[in-house]
Amino acid sequence: MNPEQPPAFDPNADLTLFGLGGSVVVVTGAASGIGRASAIQFARAGAFVMLADLDESGLAATERKIRSASGGARSIRTDCADPSELDALAEAAEQEGPICAWCNVAGIVRKVAAVDVDPALYRQILDINMGGMFWGSQVAARRMIPRRRGAIINVSSNAADEPIAGLSLYAMSKAGVNMMTRSFAKELGPHNIRVNAVAPGFTLTAMTRPEGTDTVALLARNAARSPLGLVGAPEDIAFAILYLASDASRFITGQVLRVNGGTSMP
Ligand code: NAP
Repeated sequence: MNPEQPPAFDPNADLTLFGLGGSVVVVTGAASGIGRASAIQFARAGAFVMLADLDESGLAATERKIRSASGGARSIRTDCADPSELDALAEAAEQEGPICAWCNVAGIVRKVAAVDVDPALYRQILDINMGGMFWGSQVAARRMIPRRRGAIINVSSNAADEPIAGLSLYAMSKAGVNMMTRSFAKELGPHNIRVNAVAPGFTLTAMTRPEGTDTVALLARNAARSPLGLVGAPEDIAFAILYLASDASRFITGQVLRVNGGTSMP
């Protein structure tokens, strides 16, 4: 592990460059990890953030954190596997103003050998990880098209490029997210809407550090896979998402931005 592993990104870094002031941004998975970090940074960049997740107490904690720093946010419990709930989320967000960016972050991982997968698990993972991002992108795009403005960001994964034993469904879902991103980018580009993905490498969150994990060994193992000797912090991913949501990335669409410390370079 790199002895110079920096502390998590300075959460007070100057964000004026990103110019999201006054815009409405939707973030799913906002109760935890990468979604929470992204929501907090969007609010710091001046956006009003609609927070969506299944976890209501986590949502409330994110909202409190944003409001205590004088940011604007509202929470809506949303099951991203349900297209009608995503549509209701979009409706609620539009009450605050036109949605300028929609970030599909919510996802789950389950480690199960392919030979042991049952149809219920198959549907659950694909419905949340791939379906949630497809239907989320659709409800966002339907509202952005008439205004000819918007950005959609999907959170993919390193796993889309590298098979990992026990994660076939997760890897398939994220590979699907990458192609979904390109397909939407083709269709929505003529409407002046950009669609991109961020593919994190190992990032320390509740997803990667279940209760009882030996964190030191976990970090060392994953840092060893990076030429930089680093693991990711949620803010590392959040800043990439902010960039892709802002006009600073106006010439970028249909891309998968790998934020992974160099652990894969396809
Ligand atoms: P996390 O801390 O577990 O956050 C994910 C959030 O999504 C949780 O609050 C979870 O709620 C929520 N969620 C799950 N199913 C949902 C549903 N059907 N509807 C709404 N919300 C739902 O994980 P994270 O690490 O921040 O992951 C965020 C995204 O990054 C995921 O798409 C993940 O695949 C991707 N990613 C993470 C890593 C990493 O190393 N952390 C690497 C590559 C990609 P519950 O807790 O109630 O389930």
